[in-house]
Amino acid sequence: MYRPSSYRPTPWDVLELEYCPRYLWLSKRHGVPVTPSMRAGKSAEPELRRRLAAALGGEPRPVYIDAGWAHGVVDLLVVRKSAVPVEIKTGAPRPEHKWQLYAEAYLVKAAGYAVTRGVLAYGERLRSLQVTPAELKAAERLLAKAAEVVEGPPPPPRRSPKCAYCQYRAICTYT
Ligand code: SF4
Repeated sequence: MYRPSSYRPTPWDVLELEYCPRYLWLSKRHGVPVTPSMRAGKSAEPELRRRLAAALGGEPRPVYIDAGWAHGVVDLLVVRKSAVPVEIKTGAPRPEHKWQLYAEAYLVKAAGYAVTRGVLAYGERLRSLQVTPAELKAAERLLAKAAEVVEGPPPPPRRSPKCAYCQYRAICTYT
């Protein structure tokens, strides 16, 4: 098991890392500015969680998992023969969401459950993803990388189309 630093990374950190390493670093120093769409997403989540839990057969509550060197929250956990972490999204699909989900699967596995799949729930539209040892290993590496980034020097700006709508564009010199 990795013990990369004193910082204990979360799946949310992995999401930010995959978005942009500098974003993760800035978010830990400046906090994440809450946008109106984030606020709307947060308020819609409990009702969506209830509906998804009824449809999938889980308890309608987020589950906190402490895996020691890493920790975090799974939006919904469906436990049958194996456990299925469900990550609830109220916005548009993005490539980095799957890595957040794999990091959650890593925590679920570390908590002692068998995990072979996870679900990204875009509203009530479900995307099921297979979870193999390869994804769990990659998730472990990303969690460790996130801790390194948080504790390390600022990663260089990485100019991309994301910069146009990044909350930190005003303070991140990327030109
Ligand atoms: S403005 Fe661009 S380089 Fe800077 S944190 Fe945002 S996405 Fe990353």
